[in-house]
Amino acid sequence: MNIIHRISFRTDSPAAKFFEAEGFKIKPGIINGYDIGENDPKWPRIQEAVTRYEIMDFQYKTDFTKKEIDGAEFLVLSPKTLFEYPQPSDDFGYKETTYKPGVGCRKCSVGLEQQKPFSIKKAPKWGKRNILQLNWVFGEYFVSKELKEKLEGKIPGVHFLEVLKYPKGMPLDDIFQMVVEKRVALALPENAAFQICDVCKGKKYVPGILARGFQPAPVEKDFAIAQSQEFFGDGGTAFRITIVSKAVYQLLLEVGIKGVDFIPCSP
Ligand SMILES: [Zn+2]
Repeated sequence: MNIIHRISFRTDSPAAKFFEAEGFKIKPGIINGYDIGENDPKWPRIQEAVTRYEIMDFQYKTDFTKKEIDGAEFLVLSPKTLFEYPQPSDDFGYKETTYKPGVGCRKCSVGLEQQKPFSIKKAPKWGKRNILQLNWVFGEYFVSKELKEKLEGKIPGVHFLEVLKYPKGMPLDDIFQMVVEKRVALALPENAAFQICDVCKGKKYVPGILARGFQPAPVEKDFAIAQSQEFFGDGGTAFRITIVSKAVYQLLLEVGIKGVDFIPCSP
């Protein structure tokens, strides 16, 4: 496991001189930036410099070894592609047309329960990928017809739902929502950062906690695929993370899933 930081600083600042002395190439332009892992032998010195020079340090992902990924009992899906927007997008109108009325919060999205298929303006040209997410809807996955056909009936607790072409409402023939039916609680650390909505008092965890290290493990272990009971998110969006068992992970690899990363849960 290697926790990757994206650090950046002004080229005319004292920090630039420090990085130059450490052997980093300083490029022309106002800002210089690098991705550095905590496993890098230079990291302890860089970490010290981050404090000393008040450098921007954005800890944004964790790289895992193949052994860590293949050895995990459960893994979380993480999308590589975001596509389009749920419609109607004006004033987040899709929240009214897609979710059950009177359930969940229209402001922070915590507790929304889907009632109708999503609508989008056009289907994706899939190319090499076969799974993606829509912008704003970070809890749901959408797959190509080909991937749907390969998976149909093979994963307990999954069904596929049509996606409609906006505004006419007819079903698109090459994109389907992969609906995950089960929800499980996560074993989150007590100090996990969260926000409370001022309208509904709903709680959502800060997505940044998913960027560092292993993903939170499910409390219950007896499932193939599930979404978290807990919400994550920022501003007007909230999402549940999607967790798969090792067997489902292997099945997804076998059928040639392309477009998600698999991040191991804590052992
Ligand atoms: Zn709310």
